[in-house]
Amino acid sequence: MQKTFAMIKPDAVSAGYHHNILQELELGGFAIVSKARVQLTRARAAEFYAEHKGKHFYEKLVDFMSSGPVIALVLAKEEAITGWRTLMGPTNSVVAKEQKPDSLRGKYGTDGTYNACHGADSPASAAREIKFFFPRLILDPLPDPATAKTFIID
Ligand code: UDP
Repeated sequence: MQKTFAMIKPDAVSAGYHHNILQELELGGFAIVSKARVQLTRARAAEFYAEHKGKHFYEKLVDFMSSGPVIALVLAKEEAITGWRTLMGPTNSVVAKEQKPDSLRGKYGTDGTYNACHGADSPASAAREIKFFFPRLILDPLPDPATAKTFIID
């Protein structure tokens, strides 16, 4: 069982699409190990996306990610990292709507920035991002998703 970090972004939360996304991910066989509703400050959003610093979309991305609450998730499934990225679809929601209309970004996103959700792209990113949002979560040994607690912080 692999774990990954996923996030429902402010556009989807403010539109109420988080309900649909949470339902779809459970139907897709992902177990929710941890869940938190979090308002990122601009500084925290900038830190989360630090690898993109200097790129043309960085400031807009940081504004977007701190514009309202996100839902941060630790998900567990076999091959969770690639599985979640496949469920999300292409980064740009315009492309997703064209090429993968049933994907989460195809259904719930708008464009290249406002794309409804995030997913870690490697085991190293997943570990860093889980620690960023859930610093006290003990990951080794693996929590049993059947009994793991779901935290909702408002
Ligand atoms: N992004 C953007 N413009 C771009 C590329 C990316 O606004 O040209 C935003 C978009 O919200 C994306 C995030 O930056 O989800 C991180 O980009 P990355 O290339 O890491 O894509 P992801 O891993 O999210 O698919």
